[in-house]
Amino acid sequence: MPTAFAKKESLAAIDKKFASLGLLEDFDFVLHLPLRYEDETAVHRIGSLYPGQMAQVEGIVRKSEVQIRGRRQLVATIEDESGQLSLRWLHFYPSQIKAVEEGRLIRVRGEVRGGSFWGFEMVHPKVSRAGAPLSDRLTPVYPATEGLNQPQIRKAVNAALARVRLDDTLPEAIQKKYHLAPFADSIRLLHNPPKDADTQSLIEKTHPAWERVKFDELLAQQLAMSVARATRQNKKAYAMKGKGSGLVTRLLAQVGFALTPAQEKVSREILTDMKRSYPMQRLLQGDVGSGKTVVAAIAAAHAIDQGFQVAIMAPTEILAEQHYRKLSAWFEPLGIATGWLAGSLTPKKKQQAAALVADGVTQLVVGTQALIQQHVTFAKLGLMVVDEQHRFGVGQRLSLARKGEQETIAPHQLSMSATPIPRTLAMTFFADLDVSVIDALPPGRTPVVTKLFADSRRSELLAHVHDVILQGRQVYWVCPLVEESEALQLQTATDTFDRLQQELSGLRIGLLHGRLPTQEKTAVMTAFHRHELDLLVATTVIEVGVDVPNASLMIIEHAERFGLAQLHQLRGRVGRGQNESLCVLLYMAPLSSVATARLKAMYETQDGFEIARRDLEQRGPGEFLGLRQSGMALLRFADIDEDAPIAEQARDTAQDLQSVYPEAAAAHLQRWARQRADLLRM
Ligand code: ADP
Ligand code: MG
Repeated sequence: MPTAFAKKESLAAIDKKFASLGLLEDFDFVLHLPLRYEDETAVHRIGSLYPGQMAQVEGIVRKSEVQIRGRRQLVATIEDESGQLSLRWLHFYPSQIKAVEEGRLIRVRGEVRGGSFWGFEMVHPKVSRAGAPLSDRLTPVYPATEGLNQPQIRKAVNAALARVRLDDTLPEAIQKKYHLAPFADSIRLLHNPPKDADTQSLIEKTHPAWERVKFDELLAQQLAMSVARATRQNKKAYAMKGKGSGLVTRLLAQVGFALTPAQEKVSREILTDMKRSYPMQRLLQGDVGSGKTVVAAIAAAHAIDQGFQVAIMAPTEILAEQHYRKLSAWFEPLGIATGWLAGSLTPKKKQQAAALVADGVTQLVVGTQALIQQHVTFAKLGLMVVDEQHRFGVGQRLSLARKGEQETIAPHQLSMSATPIPRTLAMTFFADLDVSVIDALPPGRTPVVTKLFADSRRSELLAHVHDVILQGRQVYWVCPLVEESEALQLQTATDTFDRLQQELSGLRIGLLHGRLPTQEKTAVMTAFHRHELDLLVATTVIEVGVDVPNASLMIIEHAERFGLAQLHQLRGRVGRGQNESLCVLLYMAPLSSVATARLKAMYETQDGFEIARRDLEQRGPGEFLGLRQSGMALLRFADIDEDAPIAEQARDTAQDLQSVYPEAAAAHLQRWARQRADLLRM
């Protein structure tokens, strides 16, 4: 009995893992296509290897030793008749030492790294038995998540493939017109490519099977867009055309700085939208620190001045609280009633706050997703501002869209984001979303100097930290990212905290991580704001929007583990005041070529748009999954730059389908876009 129960439970656990990848129904699995393929059909000759190659070789171990010099590592050399290859492990178990004992004949697989004096090497290669049978098909590698391995995913995908019917949604005429491969064949080939398939075109996604999938995806996108557009244009919103009492002007006098021309321009665009009788759907983009908050405040003042309520929502309580602090300091002196609504309030306080919102007493309410929960109603909601909108989970974004829909008169919506969407993407895929860009930073900023430090220079760095703090400045110390495990991440954070407390004794050090109870989080953040702490050890919870101008030094440990966009967001936490600011990227040698390129980009530019461009350029497709989960990448398979010609065909086809084959259009949308239509409206 106990075992049966355990098994059942573990199945449920696996289902949960699949669900976290968005895999619920058979068709989700069918469309869970490989990120790439591994070619395990051949053994390469060591003499033919090149840097960057994913390769599999067999050879005899000539040398193997655990080196203690510097960092403990296991180093081995294998040899075949064409050459030698070094292998290296920085973390290893006794069993791994045994697996590479001298004289053994082994098979290894991994990325070839080049350039060292000794020739090529593999770091952390996978070791297996030499002479084991080779696969006769390319091995698909699927997007995965912690606790799900490739064989489990492969099994689930193949089971789903066996169950579903893969009818073609496209009429034959359309398939002919664009020379499209049949859908069913394409899908089956992508999951199980035959040995003789053109590997290169599969990897580059130029294979006809990929072209078909991309066409279908882009078509679904276009269909969903036109549905969304029609829906929005039929909605009514309050046209805020009244004269008002000059609240915007009073607000501007209150904030204590003059708007930059860029801020003025986007504010005008927003106010123009709000005067229309259908809902605004505008995205305000501006690099980290470009001053989006005051623009949101202007929009809020305009709405409040005409008798409407405004809600401002942020993805984390830390960020929402900062907004609340800033906005209430601006608005309360002007006689505007502000409110705070977040999950951490006691039920009673939450109820009170919600009641004031429902009665229309609160004019401006700031909070987290607590704002869009079922029981929260507004007396007269005119404007909804969503900060860092891409950070909200899909579910939250859906309930936000639905909230707007329940009202007969929808609120205007302003989303804000520091993550730039490439222009082409914005034009083709956010056609229903107007975009305003703040393209210049407020004056008086001293650019942040970025430095790369090898971890071996840590003591030098600690001395500098000391100096900076003695000068009355504050410091962020960002803990290494441990993507594979939240528990490990937490452990790392507390370890870093303990270690720094010893190394920097006498300084006031705080610790902030995602697992702290909200109230503690707030307490730590408040203490840092008030300069009751000198140094804040933090995980990436501070990545979004934290604003403490006196902090002028940021240290990012194991910077090589972070993505470019993330590093940029983190760095944006400093350089907010008048002080010369420094961002130190601490890295652990040796760096992979990808990590080197990433850190170099950080060093070379501070421009968020340029960084985003390089980020897209550098990311392997595998990393896109993170984006997809955050809802940013609306496309899973097509690339909006490279596949622009397909996108155009899809746009024409969408029109054709809707006018000539409406059932096909509906079926196609159904297949691809169970939730897409909703997502597009956010
Ligand atoms: P973000 O766009 O990242 O949300 P914020 O709105 O937090 O940026 O603004 C960053 C900092 O710049 C804040 O301290 C804000 O008060 C300040 N700021 C914004 N606009 C101006 C301006 N026009 N002149 C001077 N400082 C400004
Ligand atoms: Mg912000």
